[in-house]
Amino acid sequence: MSFKSKITGLILAGGRGTRMGSVDKGLQPFRGSTLVQHVLQRLAPQVSTVAINANRNLPRYQLLAGSVPVLPDWLDGFEGPLAGLQIGLQFCPTELLLTVPCDSPLLPDDLAERLHAALVAQDADVALAVTMRPRDGESTPQPQLHPVFALLKASLLPQLEDYLASGERRMERWYKTLRVAEVRFEQDDAFSNINTVEELQALEQQATPGIVTSPAPAAHSTAAVPGDSAGLHVEQAQRLIAAQITPLDASASVTVNLHGALDRVLAADIISPINVPAYDNSAMDGYALRGDDLPAPADACVTLEVIGIAYAGRPCALTPQAGQCIRIMTGAAMPAGCDSVLPQELASAISDTQVTIAHGAITPGANRRFAGEDLRAGSVALARGKLLRPADLGLIASLGIAEVRVQRKLRVAFFSTGDELRAPGQALDQGCIYDSNRYTVFGMLTRLGCEVIDLGIVRDDPAALDATLRSACQQADAIITSGGVSEGAADYTRDILASLGQLSFWKLAMRPGRPLAFGQIRDGRDSAWLFGLPGNPVAVVISFYLFARPALLAMMGCSASLPTLQARTQMAIRKRPGRTEYQRGIISRAADGQPQVRLTGAQGSGILRSMTEANCIVVLAHEQGSVAEGDMVEVLPLEGLI
Ligand code: AMP
Ligand code: MG
Repeated sequence: MSFKSKITGLILAGGRGTRMGSVDKGLQPFRGSTLVQHVLQRLAPQVSTVAINANRNLPRYQLLAGSVPVLPDWLDGFEGPLAGLQIGLQFCPTELLLTVPCDSPLLPDDLAERLHAALVAQDADVALAVTMRPRDGESTPQPQLHPVFALLKASLLPQLEDYLASGERRMERWYKTLRVAEVRFEQDDAFSNINTVEELQALEQQATPGIVTSPAPAAHSTAAVPGDSAGLHVEQAQRLIAAQITPLDASASVTVNLHGALDRVLAADIISPINVPAYDNSAMDGYALRGDDLPAPADACVTLEVIGIAYAGRPCALTPQAGQCIRIMTGAAMPAGCDSVLPQELASAISDTQVTIAHGAITPGANRRFAGEDLRAGSVALARGKLLRPADLGLIASLGIAEVRVQRKLRVAFFSTGDELRAPGQALDQGCIYDSNRYTVFGMLTRLGCEVIDLGIVRDDPAALDATLRSACQQADAIITSGGVSEGAADYTRDILASLGQLSFWKLAMRPGRPLAFGQIRDGRDSAWLFGLPGNPVAVVISFYLFARPALLAMMGCSASLPTLQARTQMAIRKRPGRTEYQRGIISRAADGQPQVRLTGAQGSGILRSMTEANCIVVLAHEQGSVAEGDMVEVLPLEGLI
């Protein structure tokens, strides 16, 4: 394996740019493009995968970088290059990570190769570039270390996280705790970074053409995931996915009638054409009266004459005079001159023609609903992006609107991979299992309102996989696969996935659902987002809900987080800190009325039966250790979700 396939490149562009007046350095114009694009162009050919670490202007970076992932710091608050390194190591799908700053556009073409050679030869943890440079005020050049031009083992992540947790932020000091190989480079210029606008201009004018008009496409990662790093945090993977996904084109909407709008995503705001309610009306069954007629403080009560009845849909045309009132039903229009309604049950005495009101029974203005109180004509009744539920259909109907614009359905292709899989209905050969994932995935996608494209079972065969992926890419906005992404899986599965696009193979700090592939597949002019879910049936469900669901919703132009609640666990649960665990549970109401939860027996990630018994998932947070019986735990209800 060549050194290239072992290395992920990381461009550090996450600084504040303080010395340049807080500009975002990577985005500075430079020779027809930007600094970060120049660095990308130099770095991409040297490594298998590239990512950019940036903290500001993420959409702009994403736009410039194309399919290259843009990773914000995991730590908040611009904590410096080590924070960038942390997210880089968390992301890193290969054995080694090469960092370069975004403001050194002339970095050497043989940087990766030479650092790698030294790392291997010296069995070091990290290889750093060194050049000879005269110190300030001196003329003899001295060796100068360039700590941000570093090639590091991805397995250093736990050590770096411990170091950061101790409050330390200095890069060079961290390197002192490691085995470092120093590599002498001749071209000192290549390592000089740009700190001022003047330096940028000076460099701009030097005659080295290097105009980049589009970002250099990065090569693909086909290398193995490092075995001993802790893995990517669930939340971080979710953020990385969210940073890349964009909603479907707004033109991708269709008009449907209200019956067809359930569970669809609204593509345009619903503006109310009328006031709701359209006229002042009564909130109660009772008597509509003039507030002036209510008993004065000195009176115990007053008796009013009832001169008519107002029904909903049949207003009363009479106008009560002083001492008169009108019997009124809920929703009926307020008769002229009336401003208050005495609820029937508060009347002290009633006959067909008279009603008596005690002092203080109601205040003037009571129980009157004003025109436009719920919604004013011209205001937004429902905002675009809303997933339409039954009450939303009702609200739209209440405005007299019969048709709405909704997003076209997201087209999602899915297939299962594995030589061992047989479709239900087929004979089960020796050593084979029935393909269950395709049915679970079908159900989850359908529940999400997607147009599903079932591409069947694909054998663990490069040509079959390649053909199916290309076909999926042509037909679908997104592709969900299961199986073939774990470390034990046939290597070519990953190779094929990677050869068709820009994919990351993550090892996640979670259980179940450790491996996940995510990225964009391309075939000619077609592209689709791919979620390579693990093969284990329970892991499929969990990773679909955590990673694919929010991304598919975002593509539909809608955001919907998963609601969780707290429940008391009825049993002790063993748990290792350092990964998020999702266990199948049954939630119920305890004798004291509070929610309680127990697990559904064996939690192996292949045991689908315990998933069907479960009505919730117990979420045990990343940092959390074992929980004792009676502790409160976070619970994700499944009702309505699957
Ligand atoms: P893989 O990631 O392909 O190694 O699969 C992990 C485990 O999940 C293996 O035991 C597979 O047999 C099983 N598996 C993979 N795909 C499916 C499927 N579609 N239905 C049921 N089990 C599956
Ligand atoms: Mg498999």
